[in-house]
Amino acid sequence: MPADVSRQTYPFTLPELPYPYEALEPHIDAATLRIHHREHHATYVKKLNEAVAKDSALQKLTLGQLLRDANKLPEAVRAAVKNNGGGHLNHDLFWRTLAPAQSSANSHAPRGTLGDALKEQFGSFEEFRRKFSDAAASHFASGWIALSLDHASRRLVIADLKDHEVLHGGDATAVLILDVWEHAYYLKYQNRRPEFIEAFWHVIDWSCAAERFEHGASSGGV
Ligand code: MN
Repeated sequence: MPADVSRQTYPFTLPELPYPYEALEPHIDAATLRIHHREHHATYVKKLNEAVAKDSALQKLTLGQLLRDANKLPEAVRAAVKNNGGGHLNHDLFWRTLAPAQSSANSHAPRGTLGDALKEQFGSFEEFRRKFSDAAASHFASGWIALSLDHASRRLVIADLKDHEVLHGGDATAVLILDVWEHAYYLKYQNRRPEFIEAFWHVIDWSCAAERFEHGASSGGV
C-alpha cells in the first residue's frame, strides 16, 4: 500500500491528486475538486505547519504520531493539530479512494475479500450502501463518514466522524471515507447532500479500498 501522509513529518506537504481535476466529472466537478484540493486541503496543511513551527519537539513526530497522542500535546497547539492535521489526513485518504467512474456496472461494487466481508457483515452490498448513505445524509453539520475495519473485533463499522476527527491508526483502518463538509459539494449540489452522496458511489476506487481492507486485516493496522 503506498505511503499515505500519516508518515509525513514537518514541514507537511500537499500531495498531488492521482488524477486530473476533471477526471471525476460529472459526478464531482472539476471546479469543486480544484478548490477543495488547492484551497481547502492546502489551507489545512499550511495551518498545521504554522502550529508545529512553534514547537521543535513536535517537528520530529509523524502526522500519525501527532494525531494518535493529540490529547497529550501542549494546549497551545492541540486544537490546531487536531483540526488541521486531521483535515490533512482525511483529505489524503479521500483523494486516494476516489477514481474516475468506471463504465462497467460491475465495477461499482467490490469483489474479493472486501466484497465477501461486506456481504457477510451487512447482509448485502446494497444494504451496506444504504446504511452508509443514510449515515452520510443524516450527519449533522461538518464531518466525515468512514467504512472502518476495527482491528480488535475484525468487524467493518460505519464510523461517523465530527469535524476532522480521525480513525485511530493503531486501532482501525479506514477502508473508505466520504467528506460531508459543505465545501465538498456546495458549488454543484448546493444544499442537496444526498445527490452528492449518490454521485460518490460512481467514483469509488474499489481496488484501493480492497487493498486497504486486506492490508488492515493482515497486519492489524498501520
Ligand atoms: Mn473537505
